[in-house]
Amino acid sequence: MIVIAGSGVAGSYLAGRLAATGVEFRLYDPKKPGFRIPCGYATNEVTFKKYAGLAGLDGDTYIQRRAGSVIITGEGMPELHFPSTGLCTIDKSRFEGDLVSTVRVERRMAPLPGEDDILVDATGISRHYLGAAPEDFTMHTTEYLSGSASHGEFYFRYFSGGHGYYWEFPLEQGYHVGAGSDSAVLIRKSLENIEHSAIMARDLRLRPLFSRMFSGRAVGVGESIGTVSPITGEGILPSIECAELLFQTISHETDFQEIKIKYGNAVRKKFGHYEKLFSLLMDARRGKMAKPASLAVIPAVKKDFRNFGIDLGIVRVLKELLIR
Ligand SMILES: Cc1cc2nc3c(=O)[nH]c(=O)nc-3n(C[C@H](O)[C@H](O)[C@H](O)COP(=O)(O)OP(=O)(O)OC[C@H]3O[C@@H](n4cnc5c(N)ncnc54)[C@H](O)[C@@H]3O)c2cc1C
Repeated sequence: MIVIAGSGVAGSYLAGRLAATGVEFRLYDPKKPGFRIPCGYATNEVTFKKYAGLAGLDGDTYIQRRAGSVIITGEGMPELHFPSTGLCTIDKSRFEGDLVSTVRVERRMAPLPGEDDILVDATGISRHYLGAAPEDFTMHTTEYLSGSASHGEFYFRYFSGGHGYYWEFPLEQGYHVGAGSDSAVLIRKSLENIEHSAIMARDLRLRPLFSRMFSGRAVGVGESIGTVSPITGEGILPSIECAELLFQTISHETDFQEIKIKYGNAVRKKFGHYEKLFSLLMDARRGKMAKPASLAVIPAVKKDFRNFGIDLGIVRVLKELLIR
């Protein structure tokens, strides 16, 4: 029996995929249906539709707003407009609900490890089965649901020195306006005077924890193992893609040791560049960006923004944003 802890996007996607193939599993999550877990809901429409399709859903029906151009700026910089490569917002809560529409979700904390074959840790920041990682790196986030925003478009304002960013993401109605940082002052200042109808907050993991993907019979998926871009905070599609890798592995392999090897290799192959991007973030925080090793990561930065849905394509801007 497979036990899945967590029905966020990673756990729900995996459950939906397993349910369609008749594999036996149990899914646990104490959150109430429809509870809004903090997230900007921004993703890449093209890739999102592909994975929604694999899960038997029509991705088009979840799209809320498509980006025209994307505004990116940093302290002391002008607002720069970039073409979208598919950036949009989706109704993530409804998508997660639909993924598990045929699945019974046990509305409680996942049980302690028992005699189960595989324990899947899809609990995001909590790492219920995997446990804490001493080298973990997270930032605080606060997000408002707001009726208005100062820009009508997708907007990112990076804080200097790798201290996070402020965002405005248009929804079907209203905006997600938020800030993520290791500085409570930066978050508070960015969000003061913004009218809002709801406040959400949680920490976001920015460090890949690929050397801590397994513990006993437990295997991690999604944000629990750090499939979040260290420079954009994108975690929806990476968590879905990670869940697909796990689904493919456990569909073809029953021996847990083999699952560990094959899934571990697949995750490192797909998300290994996050290690480089995390090093870049650390360099930015130490003020040590202007070195050849950091500049060598620029193609990976461009690719990461493109995957998210933004054609950042200007090296000068990356330097402006990140070399501070
Ligand atoms: C403010 C904010 C804005 C963001 N904006 C974006 C964005 O615009 N685009 C983007 O791509 N990414 C964004 N992200 C990142 C993205 O939301 C996450 O990385 C992604 O949703 C992680 O999915 P997950 O399923 O791995 O974890 P989660 O979505 O965190 O799901 C974990 C689930 O586990 C459950 N759980 C916890 N403990 C237990 C337990 N003991 N037993 C059972 N269940 C448990 C929780 O209730 C939760 O439902 C944002 C993150 C934050 C915090």
